[in-house]
Amino acid sequence: MTIKNNIETLRSVLSGKKCELIAVSKTQPNDKIMEAYQAGQRLFGENKVKEMENKWQALPKDIQWHMIGHLQTNKVKYLAPFVSLIHSVDSQKLIEEINKQGNKNNRVIACLLQVHIAKEESKFGLDEQELKSLLEKINDYPFVKVRGLMGMATLTDDKELIKKEFSYLKQLFDDLKEKKFSKNIEMKELSMGMTSDYPIALECGSTMVRVGTAIFGERN
Ligand SMILES: *Cc1c(COP(=O)(O)O)cnc(C)c1O
Repeated sequence: MTIKNNIETLRSVLSGKKCELIAVSKTQPNDKIMEAYQAGQRLFGENKVKEMENKWQALPKDIQWHMIGHLQTNKVKYLAPFVSLIHSVDSQKLIEEINKQGNKNNRVIACLLQVHIAKEESKFGLDEQELKSLLEKINDYPFVKVRGLMGMATLTDDKELIKKEFSYLKQLFDDLKEKKFSKNIEMKELSMGMTSDYPIALECGSTMVRVGTAIFGERN
């Protein structure tokens, strides 16, 4: 299967679902990314700041770059000029820095708050309490726009567990949608699902799936 075929297959699965495809291009060389680009793909996800910056410089400027990996505060300045959406915001310290760099670059930076939904300890993200208290403070950061939530399910073959985790995040998302927060919070996007679990994420109401392997093949 070619990259183009893979993207077309995914698009047909997503059609009618109001869900966007983020092509996760981490570790992939620019010629592979260009194959996806030529198939019409414009949203790409990366998990390393330096790699994303290099790709942004080398590749067409109408690509929208999404940061999906854990982001260190001291690296925000490198992506602040161009990043389209940061999926992995998980602390107030990080929000503060994103706001500062947004101000410097005179742009409002769109973010998703990452929620810890997996059983594994190692996954990053906020718990429900931390999420709610962070949402109360977003008003202080005018160069940040919160556009929704992101979550990663446990890496497991247990479909029921994955479904439980995604459903929990969807419920949280829907509850927050009903609440009144500051103007720079708009609960619109729910980023969940990757190659192994995106069909379940779609069932559970995902609006953005982050898919790498099913487009580009196995990473080295
Ligand atoms: C790598 C990665 C993905 C994509 O993983 P695949 O299994 O290749 O689809 C999705 N989300 C995050 C946060 C990732 O780091």
